Amino acid sequence: MSDLLALCYHAVSDRWPAALSVTPVALERQLARLARRGYVGTTFSALVADPAPRQRTVAITFDDNYRSVLEVAKPILDRHGFPGTLYVPTDWVGEARPMSWPGIDRWVGTEHEPELCSLTWDELRGLDAAGWEIGSHTCSHPHLTEVDDAQLAHELRSSKAMIEAELGRACTSLAYPYGDWDERVHTAAHEAGYAAAGTIPRMLYPARPLVWPRTPIFHVDTQLRFTLKVSRTVRRLRARPRVVALAQRLPGL
Ligand SMILES: [Zn+2]
Repeated sequence: MSDLLALCYHAVSDRWPAALSVTPVALERQLARLARRGYVGTTFSALVADPAPRQRTVAITFDDNYRSVLEVAKPILDRHGFPGTLYVPTDWVGEARPMSWPGIDRWVGTEHEPELCSLTWDELRGLDAAGWEIGSHTCSHPHLTEVDDAQLAHELRSSKAMIEAELGRACTSLAYPYGDWDERVHTAAHEAGYAAAGTIPRMLYPARPLVWPRTPIFHVDTQLRFTLKVSRTVRRLRARPRVVALAQRLPGL
């Protein structure tokens, strides 16, 4: 049965209590369930390029370039034969300073600050060689709907160019920081040469290649919540306006 599932993770840690971090045990259980259900893994670009596969297909994406994606998540994905897709904000790649922007800056200066460290270009090349997709998460991780046209073009084009120069292959995949987009941002992404871009909507909506809804998975997602979130029936219901009110009473679902 054809079914496309795009998931959005961030960090994977058994110590970091951040909302955007899931534990290794939770990730293992979640991926094991998908494997049992017959999902085949692919990259985000490949998923968007083939919207009618003959089998259940999942793209497991990670936003922000946390070091734990390589050190903790990748071995778990490897066990299940799933490739990953990693979206990196290029200003921090290989930098010693922690990633920091509104939302994660509260962890800077705490015992969890090392969780905010980025992978290096060498490490990203290793992921690329292992079949992962490396996409752009802009340069500086702004709300793209709030920047002017010049910065919007810079964020989309410079990050893409840097990834292409460092990896030696085309970068046509993007994740909007905070899942934040509007039609101006959509047009700019198209003009910058992207072919696939992921969002993180509260309500699912029909997918377009540059506005492709991903299902976010967070720290609070128990196995039951995960099972509901990835359920094809629930995902179809979430795309119907009539269930907006119900979905809003189930935060995070
Ligand atoms: Zn992000």
